[in-house]
Amino acid sequence: MPATVLDGKALAQATEAQLRQRVDALQARSGGPPPHLATILVGDDPASATYVRMKTNACQRIGLESAALQLPQQTTTPELLTQIETLAQNPAIHGILLQHPVPSQIDERCCFDAIPPAKDVDGVTCTGFGRMAMGQPAYGSATPRGIMRLLHHHAVPLAGQHAVIVGRSAILGKPMAMMLLAANATVTLCHSHTKDLPDQIRRADILVGALGKPQFIRADWVKDGAVVIDAGYHPGGVGDIELPPLIDRVSAYTPVPGGVGPMTINTLIMQTLEAGEHALA
Ligand code: NAP
Repeated sequence: MPATVLDGKALAQATEAQLRQRVDALQARSGGPPPHLATILVGDDPASATYVRMKTNACQRIGLESAALQLPQQTTTPELLTQIETLAQNPAIHGILLQHPVPSQIDERCCFDAIPPAKDVDGVTCTGFGRMAMGQPAYGSATPRGIMRLLHHHAVPLAGQHAVIVGRSAILGKPMAMMLLAANATVTLCHSHTKDLPDQIRRADILVGALGKPQFIRADWVKDGAVVIDAGYHPGGVGDIELPPLIDRVSAYTPVPGGVGPMTINTLIMQTLEAGEHALA
């Protein structure tokens, strides 16, 4: 049987029509402006600038307002905290996105945690992570939540499956592990100190590549019939997993591009709408 393509682009496009209807309905109820996302970009990294632009474009497509704040490369932690605090106190702002990564002189964790949980629509705060991990209502970290939505949409069985995640970052690998655990998968979380990575990966029914190295995970480490999720995206249009030789022998896979990326953006705008619905309804 041919592998299922976990097409994030198609699902995100289909969902945008529903989100647009919800924005219209919310505005009709509240009589005010639509929910508003504030984005903060620090520095001049072109890839980050592109991601922020894609996010504000997505807001526009479904009728959300967005305001883009661009800060210089040499911004300090106190300066960034002041900006976040201002947005946090502004009742007209419903969601705050601080684009990751920030320049190295900034304490990113401290700045993430200055975002109030009610406006943490990208799911980056310790409070949000803790609540999500304990099964309490919270905005999920956008990339792993987007991956979970894609898996659920395609009815990929998760309970009892062995999920292996490569990468343990706060925005991706760790929350991914918690979400798959909550879905009753058995989870192995790998990182740069993991011994025998190929052997760990060979045991995966569900493999998530989230380490940020182009095609680092070789096709011959992946078992037949696995579900392959690739969060990476690198120049040349490749991900973290060597995908082409796998397409004929896995049960499902995310294309690169067009798999995980569109779902990340779609989850961010969905959670911004949810934050607006809470504040304005
Ligand atoms: P990150 O913060 O750099 O974290 C990378 C993780 O990979 C770390 O936990 C690191 O381990 C682990 N790692 C590095 N080299 C390894 C190796 N040789 N073997 C095993 N583990 C290794 O990266 P991130 O922000 O989570 O992003 C990961 C990837 O996802 C990147 O390609 C990024 O572009 C992509 N991404 C995509 C989206 C999207 O929307 N599509 C969103 C976010 C990120 P240690 O903890 O031990 O250092």
